[in-house]
Amino acid sequence: MRKFARLLPLVLLFACSTPRKADLLVYNATIYTMDSAFSTSEAMVVQDGKILATGKADELRKKYKTKETLDARGKFIYPGLIDAHAHFFGYANSLRNADLVGTTSWEEILTRLQEFAKTHPDGWLLGRGWDQNDWPGKQYPDNKKLEELFPGRPVLLTRIDGHAAIASKTALDLAGVRAGDKIEGGEIDLLEQGIGSAETGPKMLSGLLVDNAVDLVSAKIPDASKDEMVRSIAQAEQNCFAVGLTSIDDCGLSVSDVGAIRELQDAGKLKMRLYVMLSDNPQSIDYMEQKGILQTDRLTVRGIKLYGDGALGSRGACLLQPYNDKPGYLGFLLNRPEHFDSAAARIIKAGYQMCTHAIGDSGNRTILNIYGKYLKGKNDLRWRIEHAQVINQADFNLFGLHSIVPSVQPTHATSDMYWAETRLGAGRVKGAYAYKQLLGQNGWIPLGTDFPVEDISPFKTFYAAVVRKDASGFPDGGYQMSNALTREEALKGMTIWAARANFEENVKGSLEPGKFADFIILDKDLMKTPEKELLQTQVWMTWSNGEKVFERK
Ligand SMILES: [Zn+2]
Repeated sequence: MRKFARLLPLVLLFACSTPRKADLLVYNATIYTMDSAFSTSEAMVVQDGKILATGKADELRKKYKTKETLDARGKFIYPGLIDAHAHFFGYANSLRNADLVGTTSWEEILTRLQEFAKTHPDGWLLGRGWDQNDWPGKQYPDNKKLEELFPGRPVLLTRIDGHAAIASKTALDLAGVRAGDKIEGGEIDLLEQGIGSAETGPKMLSGLLVDNAVDLVSAKIPDASKDEMVRSIAQAEQNCFAVGLTSIDDCGLSVSDVGAIRELQDAGKLKMRLYVMLSDNPQSIDYMEQKGILQTDRLTVRGIKLYGDGALGSRGACLLQPYNDKPGYLGFLLNRPEHFDSAAARIIKAGYQMCTHAIGDSGNRTILNIYGKYLKGKNDLRWRIEHAQVINQADFNLFGLHSIVPSVQPTHATSDMYWAETRLGAGRVKGAYAYKQLLGQNGWIPLGTDFPVEDISPFKTFYAAVVRKDASGFPDGGYQMSNALTREEALKGMTIWAARANFEENVKGSLEPGKFADFIILDKDLMKTPEKELLQTQVWMTWSNGEKVFERK
């Protein structure tokens, strides 16, 4: 019926043969529309920020008189990409921090920090992106050097996964953290050697903090000024447009962040479309219960983000059996199961999506069972498990049974593949990063990056999902290839399935009449480009709402 209604005006147009006015004709392209038939077309017409028609250029020229035309020069057009799990505000903030990604030793970090401190001489010294797995010896450092190099200055250096950090002595003092302090859902590490004798003397803080312990210190960091924030967000947005993203799921923002987004979007200063999960705190729950779902053209707020457990790299993931490389140690949940249960009861009542970070097989089982208690079988509430990283073979079917959406990040597989088996052992690792197996549960799966934990580029996601190798082509033949996705599946995961994970599949995720004119023009055909060249894919243009927001000069 709807289809017929759409055709009717065209029939009338033919009858009087006056071309209809529209804004833009894009032609000379291969347009992957991402419709249900996975069809391509060579041209499309845009009007008022939406797709009006797709088809043959000749025919569209006869039917429409457009103000502008765009020759796509034979390039490839896709719907604007959607990152189903990222931290857009976190990324914007990270642009003000020392970049520690790719450092290969503690010494290199110290050098980068000294360099950064030359241009950022005052206040907190913040860095992000280290990974001790990339260093010789893979040992966590202690904070002694930080106090030597930056005496009296609070320093906080966050691990690449955001689940651990090294704090300087000054930072720990400011936060009032002392040796021997305990915190639920976190760890405050002590040096092996106490002062004096290891047995009798008081132990000293090493500076390493895990999960909830990190928050003790990060809570003391003063907020950026509004000007600084607006500048960082503008830069973050431009970086994201340049890699083809037009929608981002921000997984864990405060109610006041939502206010800032609305203010920027209303003022035309933020064009990125954002789907927001509110952080798990009383203000968010109040907002959810009082305001309900918020949906504008560029902003959706309808999820609460909870943390089930930590991350595998920092051994904070909660496992059913001990870590392979830490006997007797299971990791931990970040909250008691009762907390997730009572949150679920309120979230289901409000019609929101529950979106819970779960990495370990025990973390996942706990959350799957709590979801199941409320969802009670097939449903369309689209509750999500973020990461769904290590799943016990007996638990995969719970995703299908209760229509639970596994929201996964393929670059995590290729970032973790070097050491995941060391943590998990050969048997358990088979249920890790099992994207194809998870896809089989509901027949669809959204993909994300988790930036700034990973790089923002969605082409890395595509490559990791399909090829399952690192940039150097390791390992030969790909990592656990039975869980690779096809190119078509990966692309759907970054477009229409990502939209679906946000209840937005009727307005975005494909280039079909009536949907937002969010599209990207690429120099490569993602369906056909040889594997080796996929990572070199470049965005020529990004359009959002029928407006060009990025062009590579
Ligand atoms: Zn995340």
